[in-house]
Amino acid sequence: MNFSVTVLGSGAATPTFSRHCSAQVVNLYGVKMLVDCGESSQNQLRQYHVKMQSIHTIFLSHLHGDHFFGLPGLLSTMHLCGRVEPLMVYGPPGIKASLDLLFQVSGTELRYELSVVELDFDGMRTIHEEKSFCVKAFPLHHSVPTYGYIFEEKPPLLNLRKGIRDRYGLTHDDCLRIKQGEDLQLPDGTLVPNSELTMPPRLPRRYAYCCDTAFADDLVEAVRGVDLLCTESTFDNAFQSLAEERCHLTAAQAAKLAREAGVGHLMLTHFSQRYKDIDVLLKEARDIFPETFAANDGLLYEIPSRLAN
Ligand SMILES: [Zn+2]
Ligand SMILES: [Zn+2]
Repeated sequence: MNFSVTVLGSGAATPTFSRHCSAQVVNLYGVKMLVDCGESSQNQLRQYHVKMQSIHTIFLSHLHGDHFFGLPGLLSTMHLCGRVEPLMVYGPPGIKASLDLLFQVSGTELRYELSVVELDFDGMRTIHEEKSFCVKAFPLHHSVPTYGYIFEEKPPLLNLRKGIRDRYGLTHDDCLRIKQGEDLQLPDGTLVPNSELTMPPRLPRRYAYCCDTAFADDLVEAVRGVDLLCTESTFDNAFQSLAEERCHLTAAQAAKLAREAGVGHLMLTHFSQRYKDIDVLLKEARDIFPETFAANDGLLYEIPSRLAN
């Protein structure tokens, strides 16, 4: 089943010709969710062939302009292009008042229902549920209220081994119970364990987006074991004190987070425009966590399935 991330913008602070501000599309089973919405995100959606009106839900990390200033324009264009489907936006406190003011002074009356949910809590919470996946949020450590997000598949039903249905004369209800993990009791009382009836299960996949943030120990627990961690690496080690002052990560700190949390892969993003070539950031991270790659605008990453051992 499809679980992918399309990077629309991979730069920090201000847009450049080669890197736009933060925005991504997470596609889970065809449900497309926009994560952050920097300036020009609506153009980037067109550039990378994601239909604007197919966006199902929007998650904003924080209200710094490089993550937020594209949102009012996108919501307005959705309206002008005839959207009628409701839209849900999640973000930190202040997002609702900001949008209300902009729509009021610009005389914009959206023709679709816009629901804005402001996040204001500590710890990890499930904030959004769909049939096959959920989205969790947790606070990051930045200069304004900021949330990270985890997109998480629900455990899929198990697949029956070939020939099992006929061998035991299973009914539809028997099959469903076995697919949900139950053992099978035969008429003579013998118990057939579920592992002999089903294939090894596919592990639910998880994707964590952490941007922007300083390093903190609680992040390690929050993203522990995710298949893919996307986090910022605004600076290299030479600017560590500046990174700390501005509540950002260096590439080395991003890699330390990935290593300590035991994630599958690390995607670096949110590069300061001072780096014309980001190899210095990539090398710094790979020296600590080799399974690291760099985001660029337009990158499409498919999170692969894994079977349980
Ligand atoms: Zn930023
Ligand atoms: Zn920021």
